[in-house]
Amino acid sequence: MEQSRSFDVIVVGGGHAGIEAAHAAARCGVSVALITHSIATIGEMSCNPAIGGLGKGHLVAEIDALDGVMGRIADRAGIQFRLLNRRKGPAVRGPRAQCDRQVYRTLMQQEMSKTPGLTLIEGGVTDLLVDGAHVSGVVLDNDVHVSARSVIITTGTFLRGRMFRGEEIIEGGRTGDRSSVRLAQRIDDLGLPLGRLKTGTPPRLDRSTIDFNGLDAQPGDVEPAFFSTLTSGTALDQVACHITHTNPKTHEIVESNLHRSAMYSGKIEGVGPRYCPSIEDKIARFADKSSHQIFLEPEGLGSPQVYPNGISTSLPVDVQIAYVRTIKGLEAAEILVPGYAVEYDYVDPRALDPTLMVKAMPGLYLAGQINGTTGYEEAGAQGLVAGLNAAMSVTDRAPVLLDRTNSYIGVMIDDLVTQGVSEPYRMFTSRAEYRLILRADNADRRLTPTAIGLGCLSRERQTIFEEKLQRLVSTEESMRTLSATPTELIGAGVEMSRDGVRRTAWQMAGMAHIDGDDLRRIWPDLADVTSADLEALQCDARYEPYLERQRRDIEAVRKDRAHVLPETMDYTAISGLSGEIAGKLQKIRPMTLDQASRIEGMTPAALALVLVYAQRALKESA
Ligand code: FAD
Repeated sequence: MEQSRSFDVIVVGGGHAGIEAAHAAARCGVSVALITHSIATIGEMSCNPAIGGLGKGHLVAEIDALDGVMGRIADRAGIQFRLLNRRKGPAVRGPRAQCDRQVYRTLMQQEMSKTPGLTLIEGGVTDLLVDGAHVSGVVLDNDVHVSARSVIITTGTFLRGRMFRGEEIIEGGRTGDRSSVRLAQRIDDLGLPLGRLKTGTPPRLDRSTIDFNGLDAQPGDVEPAFFSTLTSGTALDQVACHITHTNPKTHEIVESNLHRSAMYSGKIEGVGPRYCPSIEDKIARFADKSSHQIFLEPEGLGSPQVYPNGISTSLPVDVQIAYVRTIKGLEAAEILVPGYAVEYDYVDPRALDPTLMVKAMPGLYLAGQINGTTGYEEAGAQGLVAGLNAAMSVTDRAPVLLDRTNSYIGVMIDDLVTQGVSEPYRMFTSRAEYRLILRADNADRRLTPTAIGLGCLSRERQTIFEEKLQRLVSTEESMRTLSATPTELIGAGVEMSRDGVRRTAWQMAGMAHIDGDDLRRIWPDLADVTSADLEALQCDARYEPYLERQRRDIEAVRKDRAHVLPETMDYTAISGLSGEIAGKLQKIRPMTLDQASRIEGMTPAALALVLVYAQRALKESA
């Protein structure tokens, strides 16, 4: 054994989950080691150079609200910002930033290296140290032992990762990186339930060989929507993406080579992301469509690479070249890095509790793609929760539990630990029951107070948040007082019926056809209110009646379902429960009745039985 070092928390992996985990734990004041294969790949975006989007943008805003790093670094590395679903209701709008891949990685590495309490260690983790039933550290591939009271594994697609390109199979977690075979074996030996999943990436194209003439350009928003409340403007030049399409010739080439695709020749057994299908999937599954849209996304301001979003593939390189060149604008395109698929082990997240700790091994946490999710944002959000909880655990503080009523992060974790995954899990706004409350624009109001309570956010953010809160409260008060008659409103250029009813600025703000400029014009007292503040308040005003109802629903849910289920409950002893439900409860061991309610197949009658039994068990133990 080599020399040994000791920390409070070890994070294995410097991807998106590992970054947030290590940063969050360090913000809580504990000593943290981030151990990763290569410090130079910390913050690497393995696939598309973009952060956010529908559902995912909400996760990033929530990470930011808890003082995580992803949002503010994406804002600084952004070369195109777009608010997706802009024409739909504010609750389902998704901020997205196209990033300069290199700048994102560099800024992330700078951020991590200057974080107090955080030590970066380069190396591959091959084994876990275990003391009784509790994890106590890790072993590196050079046999160095590093000890800690909590270990968070965030190894992404690397556990027994295998890459596929046509007939070629390469061991590795992503292009240029080795896979983690020994660690996977160790996790297997611990008896954790493992499965296989897959994902893929498109070929990267040489920008100088693309003919952009005649392709539709898609510029970013004139007024960018940022992820972070700390961001006030763009840091880099902004660029346009371009749009092109596949055509019948492309489809013919892909179809006639399906037998050469790693995914279609039976070499890959893992399940892939349904919502991010490969070009092979698209053509085989949607045979009636003669064209699919492709976004040509620059990978950075100085990068020669373009990411063609929409044609990920595991076809051999010669077929990739052939089909790419059938596409308008890409007739002479050169491939700089060919596309490929990767298949990897994941751990069934039902083995975890809502703090993301492995139920069977106290002190061991898992976060990110290892838990069956896909996407940087899903990974980052889990990392944050695991990092906070690992820090809470080593300092003997209460766990940080986010739930479905306060965050998309809570929705995701609850889905994962109660339902498990049957395909790579990604976030959608439709997964959240309380969408009107869980908006991206109010993520700070929902979650920053939690971070303040934990003492894990910067003074700068706390000041900005408290000032914003004061501004919103006083502006809302004014808006509820300021009023105007229909004649005055019409005089100010607003469409109104002459019904003689005087309306407050708050009531007007809730009307769909009124915007911030109208409000400022009608009531000069509001002239200095920023657009962002007015937009947030308009959302509150517009949804007020529904929000009230949702709040009442949430209260009811919280009251009835917050019942804690004793850890030692023997569900098989509850008479009247079906063997299947009892078995699932026994395995998942929900912490609350609310969590139990979302177990697949759970019925109201079964839930009532569980509640009665739990109440009796609690009384008996009192
Ligand atoms: P990663 O970002 O993969 O980071 C894992 C980290 O762990 C790396 O730093 C690695 O070096 C380190 N590591 C691994 N094993 C060890 C070890 N034993 N010791 C020390 N360090 C270790 N997402 C989408 O949303 N859409 C897509 O289309 C998509 N396509 C993808 C295509 C490919 C080919 C790949 C590889 C990924 C794709 N993803 C996609 C997924 C996206 O990249 C991940 O969801 C995200 O990066 C997961 O973050 P993570 O932190 O869990 O893992």
